[in-house]
Amino acid sequence: MHADGPSPARGVNIILLGPPGAGKGTQAGFLMDDLGMVQLSTGDMLRAAVRAGTPLGREAKAVMDRGELVSDSIVSGLIDEALGGLSPETGVIFDGYPRTAAQAALLDEILARHGRTLDHVIELAVDEDALVDRITGRFTCATCGEGYHDRHKLPVQPGVCDRCGGTEFRRRPDDNEETVRTRLAEYRAKTAPILPIYAARGLVRRVDGMAEMAQVRAEIRRLLRPAGRRVEPGPAEARPPAA
Ligand code: AMP
Repeated sequence: MHADGPSPARGVNIILLGPPGAGKGTQAGFLMDDLGMVQLSTGDMLRAAVRAGTPLGREAKAVMDRGELVSDSIVSGLIDEALGGLSPETGVIFDGYPRTAAQAALLDEILARHGRTLDHVIELAVDEDALVDRITGRFTCATCGEGYHDRHKLPVQPGVCDRCGGTEFRRRPDDNEETVRTRLAEYRAKTAPILPIYAARGLVRRVDGMAEMAQVRAEIRRLLRPAGRRVEPGPAEARPPAA
C-alpha cells in the first residue's frame, strides 16, 4: 500500500494508447506497482478466455491469431463487467482499449454508468520500425509474467526467471512477424484515428515510448502527479508546454 497518503491515482481513469509493442502492458504494470491502480487489458481478458476455452474465447481466438480486431461489443462488454467489480476509488488503466472510434464512444457511456470520468489519454509514441523487432523477440515468465526479450533482455541465468525463479516461459501466438504487420495495420487504420477525438477534448498526453523504460515510467508518473485534478475539456493546443 502507499504509506504517503492517498494515491494521486485515486479514482483516476487513464487510457494507454499506442501500437502493439509500444510498452502499454509494461507501463501499466509499473502504474499498478507505483500507484495501486488496476490494469484492464482487453487483450489479457481475451487470452484468459481463450485459455479457459469459453465460447467467447473460441470465437475470439481465430480473429486474434490473424491479428484482426475482435468485435466492439465483445470487448466493451468485458470492460463494463470488469469495472462493475471495482470500487469507485480504484484508479483504472485501460490498456489496449478502446481501439476503435465506436469503442471510444462506448467507453464514454460505460464510464458514465460507473460514475467515472476519463482523466488522461497517454499516447506512447513509437517508431514503427522498432516495433516488429520488439514484438517478435518478446516472451514472459509463465509464473509471474515478468517480461523478457531474445535480443535485449534475457534472464541472467538462462532458462530461469530473474524475478520468481520460474522455469516456464510463454510466447504469444500472435507475436510473429506476419501477424504483427496486420496488427500494426489495424492500429493505423482503426485506432490511431481516435487520438484526434481525444485531443479535441484536451485529454491527450504524448510520451516518448522509444525512451528507456524507466524514463517512460517517470514521465507517466509526472503526468499523474497533480492529485485529484480533473482535466477540463479544451483544445489540446491550449495546454501549457511540458516542463
Ligand atoms: P493486445 O494484447 O492488446 O495486443 O491484444 C491482442 C489481440 O486481442 C488483438 O490483436 C485483438 O485481436 C484482440 N483485442 C484486444 N483488445 C481489443 C480491442 N479493444 N478491440 C478489438 N480487439 C482487441
